[in-house]
Amino acid sequence: MRERFWERFALEELDEHEWEALCDGCGQCCLVRLEDEESGDIATLSLACRLLDSDAVRCRDYPNRLSRAEGCLQLTPERVRRFYWLPQTCGYRRVARGETLPAWHPLISGDPMSVHRAGISVRGMTISEDAVDEQDYEDYIIAVLPIEG
Ligand code: SF4
Repeated sequence: MRERFWERFALEELDEHEWEALCDGCGQCCLVRLEDEESGDIATLSLACRLLDSDAVRCRDYPNRLSRAEGCLQLTPERVRRFYWLPQTCGYRRVARGETLPAWHPLISGDPMSVHRAGISVRGMTISEDAVDEQDYEDYIIAVLPIEG
């Protein structure tokens, strides 16, 4: 990877390896979200995608996640800019907005566990979407994000 590429290049200019490394491994984008049909507000739940290993905070089938997990989308530079619900800590979002990476980001710390120690990741905080009836999903809302104007 090129030295401090996240400060020197736009998302579109990253190679595949750099792109993958920019993910801090927080798992926040693997939480189930509900969109209010009328307002467009996005509710985030404490339920995680059935493919997420909640202890390791890793996808159990990353290469096939797009076909196996309904609603899973490949992030692209364009989507990063459009998905306002991505957490403010997300490495892609930060680079897209010209922000620096925090000290706990694995690219800065050199340690993939630092995102967990900093309390940024969802490790141990979620249960699988499969464990709950869909009609009860609203009981698991932990945050509501108004649509960005
Ligand atoms: S929210 Fe961003 S940094 Fe966190 S796991 Fe998802 S893509 Fe990676």
